[in-house]
Parts: sequence; structure tokens; C-alpha cells
Amino acid sequence: MHFEESDRLKNIPPYLFAEIDEIINKKQEKGIDVISLGIGDPDIPTNTNIIKSLCREARNPQNHRYSSSYGMSIFKEAVSKFYKKRFNVDLDPDKEIISVLGSKEGIANIAYTFINPGDYTLIPDPSYLVYKIGSSFAGGIPYSMPLEEENDFLIDFEKIKEDIARKTKIIYVSYPNNPTSASCDIKFFKELVSFAKKYNIITCQDNAYSDIYSDDTDKPISFLNADGSKEVGIEFNSLSKTFNMTGWRVGYAVGNCEIIKSLGKYKTNVDSGIFKAIQYAAVEALNNYDEYVKYNNVIYNKRRKMVKELLERIGIDYYKSDKTIYVWSKVPDGFTSKTFAKMLLDKADVVVTPGSAFGSHGEGYFRISLTISDDRLEEAMDRIQKVIL
Ligand SMILES: *Cc1c(COP(=O)(O)O)cnc(C)c1O
Repeated sequence: MHFEESDRLKNIPPYLFAEIDEIINKKQEKGIDVISLGIGDPDIPTNTNIIKSLCREARNPQNHRYSSSYGMSIFKEAVSKFYKKRFNVDLDPDKEIISVLGSKEGIANIAYTFINPGDYTLIPDPSYLVYKIGSSFAGGIPYSMPLEEENDFLIDFEKIKEDIARKTKIIYVSYPNNPTSASCDIKFFKELVSFAKKYNIITCQDNAYSDIYSDDTDKPISFLNADGSKEVGIEFNSLSKTFNMTGWRVGYAVGNCEIIKSLGKYKTNVDSGIFKAIQYAAVEALNNYDEYVKYNNVIYNKRRKMVKELLERIGIDYYKSDKTIYVWSKVPDGFTSKTFAKMLLDKADVVVTPGSAFGSHGEGYFRISLTISDDRLEEAMDRIQKVIL
């Protein structure tokens, strides 16, 4: 028997790096020690206080039943307090906050909530792939907005064609950015608000990396810091990277109450909320964010510094940023993103992510993740040095 996949699934562009995956598998089968700098998933364990809170709440039978797709009040109140302390943003926990099963879920489902077949969506290139694929699943037509290094990987709104903007339903934005590590300032978010207002576009900003930075005087901001932002959009955020909780599946969206309400209406029909014990653990994390975030950033700062120093020593350019868990680096002359990644794998047994995996404008770059132990990262950088010099 053969069961045909839906057109929407079949139409996902073919995975470009199957060949690289195959080489990794073959090497691992032969017992070769391959080091991956390709994974955007923190290696630091979730803090034990957060785990204790989960364990305690898991024992309470009241937490074993369905929760709401909108999130428990105690969770939304903790998000509201966090946004006030961290970003000085006021949020009504009842109307302006919704829980999501990881921001990936919210990002994918916001498309089904608002897009009709034929609506345009504006997608940064390069970017996290869920914006484009999520909106295509819902029948949207993704239109790419190139992120260029000359413009610090910010979106250039002037380059978006007027007729496209008029047909657009959703714009996706994410700063601090995966994969480029670029961040933006309030001026950019203000431009984004004016653009969205002018064309009546729902704005979805993804702030997954809001708390990974080295300079306490230059922390990432929130989209909701921009005047008028709540009239046009929402911001996704997640406990995944901030608290090393990727496997827990807990995040949230904040902002425009109508958008939040509609997302909840959709979600009520496809999920039944996050396990209550996990929401209690998330409350513990959010209430003590300062301590947890400091701990992570000491680790990432040390690794980022080590990677940058080595790249400089071997003459590989990278984008100057102290945000996110990535170093966005330039492929040396004579290579494409893919041939360079393949060469590193062949000769150094090190995996990096080719920039072109994130969109055609990622060509010419590769991404190094800082989510691997200090020694393994050092060993990987040593191996890279040996094949480059
Ligand atoms: C990791 C990541 C997320 C977080 O996803 P979760 O589903 O919350 O784990 C969201 N956006 C970007 C750009 C990411 O890199």
C-alpha cells in the first residue's frame, strides 16, 4: 500500500543537506569522533530549582488534568511580571498573554489563525525555517526580505514592493536573530510599527534570544518597547534558550489582545494546553530569571570569546555581535557554504551549519553554535585551525 502525503507536506522544499547528514552517519558508524557545532539546543542542564518545582507539582493530582490552551493564570502573571521587570512593558495577563507549547508551535499556528490561501507573508532571508514553512502550510505565499550584512542584517522596508505589502497578512521578524546573531534597536522596531500600520499587517516578532548577551548595558529589547506595537502585533518568547528548557515545550506570545484571542481560539481546537506542572516550573524560572540568565551568560561569553579569537587567528571573518548562541561566520574564498561545511566535515570531522540552509541570502556564511561543552568546542576549533592554516 502507498499513502500519498498531502500536497502541503510534499511541497516542502527538499532538504539540501541530506548529503552532509549521510557523511555524518557514515563517519559515526565507523566510530569516528564527529563534533557538531550545528545544533541550536543548549547543552547546559535546566537549573535544579526549576526541576524541583516540576517534581513537586507533578505529584499533585490537581495538576494531572487538562489545562487551558490560553495558559494558567499563575503562569501568565509570572510572564507579566517578567516583562515588567526585564523590559519595562506592561501586560494584562488575561488579555495580552497566551501560553504556547514552545514558540515553534505558536509560530506555526499563528499562520493557520490568520492566513487565507493566497495571502502574502513577509519572511526574512536567512531565517529560522518555521516562519516560511508554517505560512506555506496555511496556504500563504512567502515573500523573502533579504538580510544584508551592510545593513547589519536588518530588514530594509524600502525594498519591499508596495503591491506585495498591500497583499501581506503577516510579517515575521526576529531580533536578536538566528542565524546571523544580529540585534536591533528601538528605531528599527518603530519603523516596523509604521510599516505594519501603513499596510495593516500583523507583526510577529520572535524574541527567543532575548536573554543571551554579554553586555549588561546593551541588553536586547522587546518589540513591545516601541510605541504603537500593541496595535499591530505580538512578540513570541520562549523558556527554551533563556532557561535551557528546549525539551520542556513552554513559551508564550504577548501583545495585541485581538491577535492573542484569535490564536487562543485556534489553539483550543488543536491542543489542550501545557502540563500544569511544567507551567509551575516555568513560573519558578521566570520569577528568578536574573540568577539563571547570569549563569548562562558567563558560560556563553567564555565560549563566544574563544571562538572569535580562533577565527581571527586563522583569518575567518565573522559578524561582530555578543548576542545569541551563534557566531555567524564568513566562508573563506573559493568555497560555497555547502562545500566549506563539507570540507570541514571531511577533513576535520567537525559539523557546522551552512548558511544557505537558512535561505539563499545565507550563502557565503556558516553558523557555529556555542551549545557544546568548553572542551569539545575547543577541540573542534583546534581541528578547524589545523585544516585552514
Ligand atoms: C530556538 C528558537 C525558537 C524556540 O523554539 P521553542 O519552540 O520555543 O523551543 C524560536 N525561534 C527561533 C528563531 C529559535 O532559534
